[in-house]
Amino acid sequence: MRITAPAEYTVNSTGVLTAAALRGGRRTWTWESDYPLRVINVAAGRWAVRRGQGTAVYYDPGHPYNVDSILAALDGARRWYAEWFGPYPWRELRLNEFPAIAGYGQGNATNIFFSEAVGFLALTTPASDLAFAVTAHEAAHQWWGHILAAGDGPGGIILAEGAANFSTMLLLDQVRGPAARIDFATRSEAFYGEFRQPGDEKPLAETFGARPADVTVIYDKGGWAFWMLLQQMGREAYFAGARHFIAQYHDAPGHPVLQHFVAAMRPFAPDPAGFDAVADQWFFKVVMPEYRIVEARKRRSAGGAGAGAGGETWEVVARVANSGTARMPIEVAAASRGDRFGDDGKETAGYRDVRAILVLGPGEERQVRLACPFDPQRLVVDPDAKVLQLQRKAASIRL
Ligand SMILES: [Zn+2]
Repeated sequence: MRITAPAEYTVNSTGVLTAAALRGGRRTWTWESDYPLRVINVAAGRWAVRRGQGTAVYYDPGHPYNVDSILAALDGARRWYAEWFGPYPWRELRLNEFPAIAGYGQGNATNIFFSEAVGFLALTTPASDLAFAVTAHEAAHQWWGHILAAGDGPGGIILAEGAANFSTMLLLDQVRGPAARIDFATRSEAFYGEFRQPGDEKPLAETFGARPADVTVIYDKGGWAFWMLLQQMGREAYFAGARHFIAQYHDAPGHPVLQHFVAAMRPFAPDPAGFDAVADQWFFKVVMPEYRIVEARKRRSAGGAGAGAGGETWEVVARVANSGTARMPIEVAAASRGDRFGDDGKETAGYRDVRAILVLGPGEERQVRLACPFDPQRLVVDPDAKVLQLQRKAASIRL
């Protein structure tokens, strides 16, 4: 592709730049595909540029605030998504800023577009990094959208947008740590809890964007459904299955939907019955757990196993109920203090917790006993944000 523009503009397109010839105040840019592409795009701007490891960010030099985060996400995507989901077949991955006349991002192969309104101007803290998260989402479409192009039918879009949000959780966890991942995942969960329309909601495998609330079902519930399947399968089995699935459909004439994904992943599941239970509930039904701590008390006892400093132990006895409709294994933790993560996104010094796992079906309630070698201050259901649920904040109390 050859594009001619005024000399002060940089012109970026898909593939690799092979020539840029200046003549009479205008420059002609030649872009060639170094590997087959499904979609081509063109962006032109008067940008500054920062380069990473086979990556680059083209941005407005007037606001460089989040370029570090964006570049870290692009570099992280090339390294980790390639390891988890299969090799990146193109040479470069670029991100181009456009003005806030629109507020979206689009992750076309090799050349992402991204509005200044969706990350370049966001306030970034170590525990909450929207610029990183949006970049991780758009970069994930290199794999989930372009290397793998899902079918244009019910359940297909989950393999693009849900998979991109799931990839974002993984990359945040890998590069920024669990606090950033939990922050992103629980915001996504709260959004789904608020904006879903349960009376009208279809299972993920039947969802394609026709209903007003489908956006949150596709992005938020979709991302969480893959996250829960990864918890069930274990990381290595999940990634082996995902790589196999993408390789199987990358060059195939057909385009897969969720049923193809489930069929491709199942042989990699170490526990097929457990896999079926998660896939059935989250892809083929509409269920949601909702946990409550019905009662909880702690008492101090001297000596015994697990004694803390001074030989003291505490025991927490609690009853946890699921008033929702899903059956999932769920962790319950007695924690030494309220704030597990500090403002730096790291676990605070001296934080400790003791955990137990319960399996709670719809309407079930069970007792849990936790022996703590410290004075527990909080009881928290699902401290690591592993299970999508309604009203998460209500499933945590002060002891
Ligand atoms: Zn997307």
